[in-house]
Amino acid sequence: MRVAVVGAGLAGLGATYFLIKKGCSVTLFDELGVGGGASGIPIGLCHPYLGRSGKPSKFADEAMSVTRELIDVAESTSGKRLADRSGILRTDWNPTLWYPDLENVEGGILIKSGMTVLMREYVNALYASFSDVELVKRRISSEDELKEFDRIIFACGSGTGDLGFDLPLSFVKGQVLIGKFNKSLERTIMKARGHLSPFKDGRVQLGSTYEHHFSSSKPDQVVAIRDLQSKMDAFFLNQDEFVFEECFSGVRACVKEGYLPIVERMSEKAFVFTGLGSRGLLYHAYYGRHLADMVI
Ligand SMILES: Cc1cc2nc3c(=O)[nH]c(=O)nc-3n(C[C@H](O)[C@H](O)[C@H](O)COP(=O)(O)OP(=O)(O)OC[C@H]3O[C@@H](n4cnc5c(N)ncnc54)[C@H](O)[C@@H]3O)c2cc1C
Repeated sequence: MRVAVVGAGLAGLGATYFLIKKGCSVTLFDELGVGGGASGIPIGLCHPYLGRSGKPSKFADEAMSVTRELIDVAESTSGKRLADRSGILRTDWNPTLWYPDLENVEGGILIKSGMTVLMREYVNALYASFSDVELVKRRISSEDELKEFDRIIFACGSGTGDLGFDLPLSFVKGQVLIGKFNKSLERTIMKARGHLSPFKDGRVQLGSTYEHHFSSSKPDQVVAIRDLQSKMDAFFLNQDEFVFEECFSGVRACVKEGYLPIVERMSEKAFVFTGLGSRGLLYHAYYGRHLADMVI
């Protein structure tokens, strides 16, 4: 079966991985290339818990394990460590329920299964692990442009809004700052709804802002620094400890109600996979597998 996957972000690549496993011949289309959308943010956090309640997200154990499978594949292809699996420390959290995955440690609660993923490198390595998948750098506006394919998956992230589908989505811009930090950081710390993560070469990533009304999806470091001020204050005793270097932004497609992604059949041939919100890493592989099962 010939399948066109439009969008080479977490969703499109997650689906492609399982479609190939089922013997499909996949062609990827992306107007910008692999990781050209929100999945090109430098670092992403992956853990199974919801907001402040501490309840596990739905299907979290299985989703974490399928995500780990894909990270293993990407790491073995690239020969590099792409995920820090030493857990995530939450410093201002009182979960209402306790799970074996949580440990009270000095300074907070450790989510032992939590991972910090070099997202941009991960998507590139995952794509590199696919043999015989052609990537066509082209914008696709409707399924009519892909008549030669048996099935078409639209995994366009925030670009889904331009395809004319009637889906309950909203679009939120997020930004992260990369900079130097003069203290060593062992693992990601979550605090005050922000995170500080160790990056390569001793730098750190501080994120992220949530802008529901934005005029451009491009990085805007003035807004990012302004919005992240309270998070900086929560992490740094002294502002001089963080020396800003770069700003990255992206727009994520979020479902209006709840947090589970949308995986739907839109026509005889076309399917949509979007709305991963802030849980792209947790759900791209799990729902990518589900989608592949629906397609075949
Ligand atoms: C600042 C920020 C921080 C984040 N932090 C985290 C985090 O810590 N953990 C986490 O799990 N998630 C995080 N996310 C969310 C995560 O990035 C998204 O859930 C995920 O990347 C969405 O993947 P996607 O494949 O659906 O969309 P995208 O990555 O946006 O991919 C869509 C692709 O489709 C292409 N495209 C769009 N329209 C068309 C078209 N018409 N024709 C051809 N190509 C098209 C685009 O070029 C793009 O490459 C964050 C997002 C942001 C912005």
